[in-house]
Amino acid sequence: MSERPSRMISRPTGLHVVLMLAGVAVIFAIDTFAPLDIAIAALYAVVLIASADFLGRRGILLVCAVCVLQTLLSYAIVHFDSLQSGPVLRALIGLCAIGIATLAALRNRKAAESLSDQAALLDLTHDAIFVRDRNDVITFWNAGAEELYGWPRKEALGQKANALLKTKYLPSAGTTEQLGDSSRWQGELIHTRRDSREVCVVSRWAVQRDERGRPIATMETNSDITEQKQTEDALHHTRSQLEHVTRISTLGELTASIAHEVNQPLAAIVTNGEAGLRWLLRDEPNLKEVRLAVERMISNGRRASEVISRLRALARKSNPSHTVLTLNDIVADVIPLVEREMLSNNVALRLDLQAPAPLVLGDRVQLAQVVINLVVNAIQAMSQIGDRRRLLSITSKRLSEDSNSQLAVLEVEDTGTGIDPKIANNLFTAFHTTKADGMGVGLSISRTIVDSHGGSISVTSGDSCGALFKVRLPVLQQVEAIAATDRPC
Ligand code: ADP
Repeated sequence: MSERPSRMISRPTGLHVVLMLAGVAVIFAIDTFAPLDIAIAALYAVVLIASADFLGRRGILLVCAVCVLQTLLSYAIVHFDSLQSGPVLRALIGLCAIGIATLAALRNRKAAESLSDQAALLDLTHDAIFVRDRNDVITFWNAGAEELYGWPRKEALGQKANALLKTKYLPSAGTTEQLGDSSRWQGELIHTRRDSREVCVVSRWAVQRDERGRPIATMETNSDITEQKQTEDALHHTRSQLEHVTRISTLGELTASIAHEVNQPLAAIVTNGEAGLRWLLRDEPNLKEVRLAVERMISNGRRASEVISRLRALARKSNPSHTVLTLNDIVADVIPLVEREMLSNNVALRLDLQAPAPLVLGDRVQLAQVVINLVVNAIQAMSQIGDRRRLLSITSKRLSEDSNSQLAVLEVEDTGTGIDPKIANNLFTAFHTTKADGMGVGLSISRTIVDSHGGSISVTSGDSCGALFKVRLPVLQQVEAIAATDRPC
């Protein structure tokens, strides 16, 4: 441990000693040589109280002894030939004052030492702890703060905390205004070290208030989470890479459906083009039919372009961007991509989508990835079923947990094999698969996506042997309320 962490006990300097000796000498001189009929010796109390700031217990007792001796000496010099009640009383008052001041000085000293020891304890923690007064001036700086920020105590004390550490508030942290009347605050902050490196800290504040409740000082306890943040960022990056790769590989599994989705409008364009040409080449061209054929070509061209842009969105590697949407929108995006797959696997589709669908805040591409994964898994789980109907049911509905919280729910149910009990407990954990060529990451990524939307995903046994997956997302009630008031009557 370096020096004491606070200024509660200072060491005596030469100036202190000189001032104290001068004080004692002046009081002795006045008491002995000035013709005053008052208890001058009581002034020794002032010297004793002042000495408690820089003298130890023994030093205070020594000063006390000197003051008592000087009082007695003074009395002996002035009144050695007579014993009068007045001077005796004044000497006794002086001695009492010295006694009381000595006791008070010893008590102050003990309290200061105990405070100082408590402050020294704060040096044992690895956390950076500092105290700033109401003007943001640093009044206490522990060893952890020295280590984290690189500023030695001597240089940090007396500086303005925000200017020294260049405090930046993370959006999640809110601002200190949120502190309001509360005496505590916690959030993540960015501070700049002495060597200009930034550190991310979890900061906990405790505000000390005076008897009228006005803030007088704030104690900040900061724990360095820079490494943890970097690891989280790296993890997030890897996760989004994996998410992208999985999405691409799922799209790879759907090539037949996708090719069909694009081929259909292209074939329609060719057919309508040929028909339009025939109407034109007639002896009497039928312009009305030509116009209709061109219109059909345009609408099929648009359909093809929509499919391609949807695919591009799914294949693109982009950062999540949340917009207001409904789970029905997601289902509408996904169905064309999986229709062909269902057809070739003899799977019937039952859609039960509640309208108007509740609004949610979500990333369209990520949520489409979740639904595609659930649907493809369901189709695969039914691919070996021969004794019952292969049916995929997709249901959307609103669920009220209580008056304040509502959920948008999407259910994907199949009549397949059901969940293998061997992996039932680890279904949403990466790399658990029962498929020979499966990676076992689809459901784990789906859970990460749904979690990042503030929702949840779960599985139970379906009514007809198969599996029933439920995705729940919080309904955006505020936006719904605004949409309702904007709606024309
Ligand atoms: P993968 O499809 O590559 O195996 P997933 O994470 O998507 O990875 O699925 C993990 C496992 O969960 C699958 O291997 C399968 O055993 C099980 N599973 C997922 N969906 C269903 C379903 N609808 N019916 C039965 N089992 C399922």
